[in-house]
Amino acid sequence: MKDVPALFGSMVFNDAVMQERLPKDIYKALKKTMKEGTHLELDVANVVANAMKEWAVEKGATHFTHWFQPMTGVTAEKHDSFISPCGNGKVIMEFSGKELVRGEPDASSFPSGGLRATFEARGYTVWDITSYAFIKDGTLYIPTAFCSYSGEALDKKTPLLRSMEALDKQAIRILRLFGNTAAKRVITTVGPEQEYFLIDKEKYLKRPDLVITGRTLFGAQPPKGQELEDHYFGSIKPRISAFMKDLEEKLWEVGVLAKTKHNEVAPAQHELAPIFSTTNIATDHNQLTMELLRSVADKHGLACLLHEKPFAGVNGSGKHVNWSISTDNGINLLEPGETPYENAQFLLFLTAVIKAVDEYQDLLRVSVASAGNDHRLGANEAPPAIVSMFLGEELTEILEAIESGSSYQSKEKHNMEIGVTVLPHFPKDTTDRNRTSPFAFTGNKFEFRMLGSSFSIAGPNIVLNTIVAETLREFADILENATDFKAELAALIKKTIKEHKRIVFNGNNYSEEWVEEAAKRGLSNLKNTVEALPAFISPKSIELFTKHHVFTEKEIHSRYEILLENYCKTLRIEALTMINLVKRDIIPACVSYQNELTQLLGAKKSLGGYESGLEEQLLGKISGLSSQLIDRLGKLEQAVADAKTISELLDLANHYRNNVLGAMSELRLIVDELETLVAAKYWPLPTYAEMFIV
Ligand code: ADP
Ligand code: MG
Repeated sequence: MKDVPALFGSMVFNDAVMQERLPKDIYKALKKTMKEGTHLELDVANVVANAMKEWAVEKGATHFTHWFQPMTGVTAEKHDSFISPCGNGKVIMEFSGKELVRGEPDASSFPSGGLRATFEARGYTVWDITSYAFIKDGTLYIPTAFCSYSGEALDKKTPLLRSMEALDKQAIRILRLFGNTAAKRVITTVGPEQEYFLIDKEKYLKRPDLVITGRTLFGAQPPKGQELEDHYFGSIKPRISAFMKDLEEKLWEVGVLAKTKHNEVAPAQHELAPIFSTTNIATDHNQLTMELLRSVADKHGLACLLHEKPFAGVNGSGKHVNWSISTDNGINLLEPGETPYENAQFLLFLTAVIKAVDEYQDLLRVSVASAGNDHRLGANEAPPAIVSMFLGEELTEILEAIESGSSYQSKEKHNMEIGVTVLPHFPKDTTDRNRTSPFAFTGNKFEFRMLGSSFSIAGPNIVLNTIVAETLREFADILENATDFKAELAALIKKTIKEHKRIVFNGNNYSEEWVEEAAKRGLSNLKNTVEALPAFISPKSIELFTKHHVFTEKEIHSRYEILLENYCKTLRIEALTMINLVKRDIIPACVSYQNELTQLLGAKKSLGGYESGLEEQLLGKISGLSSQLIDRLGKLEQAVADAKTISELLDLANHYRNNVLGAMSELRLIVDELETLVAAKYWPLPTYAEMFIV
């Protein structure tokens, strides 16, 4: 048995290590910078860097890296060693405050959406002092934000930190109105649940579509998929269990609070959830988790698939962002409290979230849009593309009572009148039953369930923090000028419920009726990435993000372009992979099998007196499908070629969405049927059934 408490965080330069290794005054200065975001002096940074290096070298590290999160959605790193020549042909290990605080990766090849002309190609990275440095594979990792020379954000972390600041600023105004002077800062907390598939690495390597695009572009349905639902929470197989154990240890070492693990609904699908932490740390940790999932799987002869829909016909993988707002002294602001005052405050924060989600549905939708997630959202396994909120029966009744001015009788027989009596607590099991909701209140937090499994959680959290900051700002503006605080507070809550209750839906989000009902309510239904993305550059969006200093207008436009480009590139790569596979592998397999059948048929005929119905029928079927195959292949090739003639980015994305994707589906149908007819020995790709056995 490993000593878990000793293992946990053993590779992290965390508070305990800092306290132990830094001179008192330096430690104090660093903590102050962390807490209050004040400037870190270079002499302090020098001492910290040296202590960090000493610690890292003792742990076997030889290199350091500024670890950042460019717009690719994954992390980037460039390793420098600590070595420095000392004159006599020898080296010493050195690390300066300057190297710790700021780096200048030559980053001209990261997507910038036109933000960074090549003549000013250099971006720079700045230490995110609130996220601890850690050691992985002999390298000291320093979490950083990544900006252009002129200060524009080139990454996902900078706007995330800005959005946390925006929410902090507005939420503090609200808390002060309620007489709270103890809280210095308000933070958002996040616990992301991560789904993934594990398959055998050998089989994975035989599927170029999986290797190149992350998903299977072909594959007939297996006799057994997930219909028996026997995989969900099933016992974990020894090989998977060994992987999970190893993964957990690696995660614990770098300070990730990995807590729960279980089998998911689809065969070979699993889930991992950490204990929640501050949003930017949770974001770093989720990136680390995805990296370690892949690398640990590899060591165990497995391949970890993080794509949203690696296999057609079985559930895809998502990521649930559990999100709440909390004070720096640990009070969860989305937790119903004990006193009438706390409850009024809870209701105000709750209605702020309701209003934010209703008013900015489109931006939340944008934040979960990607080519991969398009295969999943609304496919009866994940929430639909329509954003709505689940509050549960009890809370909904409370809000209805407030709206109509009647008194609410809770099951516990507490009379509820805002500002006067006690709100019931919402035990998790009465609030968490609706698994179909995109955005569900689960007792003391919200769970945003629309994210795809491969996503950085930064994007959705940037939107969530900013839209809630905006409603809190509006509320604070009103209440700070109130003459009768209690009366205006009650009126504000009532008015907000009335105006935004259309976003609340407690029923089955997967049903057809909901689509109709949502349309009646005027909720938006942006079915795919191309339909969703333009909302990002709408005047309303630009006003919101610039007002709260989360994005500049230029940054929004550049990100919009990157997202659209990424969509087009993803589809292009998929289409080309498909074309290649059909030409080089599928067609030869069909030809070989037909050749075998033809030879047999010829032999039988020349000998005479043998039945040849089977060969004839099969040959007829396969050659019929083969001609359809070549026809549809031609159509796909044409659609890809046509893309070259389109210069406007949104038109191009629409072309990929409407023409290329359609041609891909048509082609797949034929290939999948051929898979069921061609002899297994000729078929070049492991089947679904084979891949589901791990
Ligand atoms: P589920 O039933 O959805 O699988 P779990 O309870 O297993 O839910 O996990 C929910 C996640 O929510 C965990 O990561 C947990 O740490 C996180 N969580 C709990 N409280 C909060 C909070 N106040 N803020 C953010 N996340 C939270
Ligand atoms: Mg969940």
